[in-house]
Amino acid sequence: MGTHIGRSWDGPGHVEALCPCPKAPCGLVDRDNTSDACGQHPPENMRTIRTSHRLEDCPEVGRDVVVAMSRTIRAREAVVKAADEWDGAYFSFELDDAIDDYRAAVEHEAAERIRNSERLRSYTDDHMGDCNAAADAIDPDVEEST
Ligand SMILES: [Zn+2]
Ligand SMILES: [Zn+2]
Repeated sequence: MGTHIGRSWDGPGHVEALCPCPKAPCGLVDRDNTSDACGQHPPENMRTIRTSHRLEDCPEVGRDVVVAMSRTIRAREAVVKAADEWDGAYFSFELDDAIDDYRAAVEHEAAERIRNSERLRSYTDDHMGDCNAAADAIDPDVEEST
């Protein structure tokens, strides 16, 4: 029987965003499909699992958020690196670019949280189209998101 697992209390988190395991449609990791390179999810690592559901209970939304979180975390690291390497001269193209990338990553993540929100889906019912239109307004180039 398949089970989706995660190491955060509240659905997929940073651990899932950064680990090499394939992600289930909900953004968690399938216990039967972990990566050998992952130090977190393979059962033999004996790490604490804080979130889980059976395959048949999977909400099947959320993977795009986890992918977006990974991009945001890496974009933030790039800002820190560019700032660290800046020699203090008048302008740093690297830092400027890194900040632009980080902003785009944050906006994309925010839009994916709207598009993938279980709460919005059940709450707004047939207004999800409006929510998605709002998400598209802050994150127009959705094709890029894979
Ligand atoms: Zn993993
Ligand atoms: Zn799932």
